[in-house]
Amino acid sequence: MLLIECPWCGRCEQSEFHYGGEAHLTRATSASDNTELTEFLFLRNNVRGDTAERWFHATGCRRWFNAVRNTVDDRFICTYKPGDTATQGTTDA
Ligand SMILES: [Zn+2]
Repeated sequence: MLLIECPWCGRCEQSEFHYGGEAHLTRATSASDNTELTEFLFLRNNVRGDTAERWFHATGCRRWFNAVRNTVDDRFICTYKPGDTATQGTTDA
């Protein structure tokens, strides 16, 4: 069973969380052209290794947070609150 460290609730089972996609995206604005809007809506990095993601604690505190996860071994490196940086987060044991 995979455990994920919620920055507010602590360690909980993976089934309590929902994946929310890539973290730290730059949103398209009303001034964006079609290329920028297309990239924002449809193009995502497909990283092999450590990547920043958004996660939602659906059956817990119902808050969003960020996590750095290694996509090769599915190991969470750290989790951190929105607005914080990855180095301020909690590390997985
Ligand atoms: Zn939580």
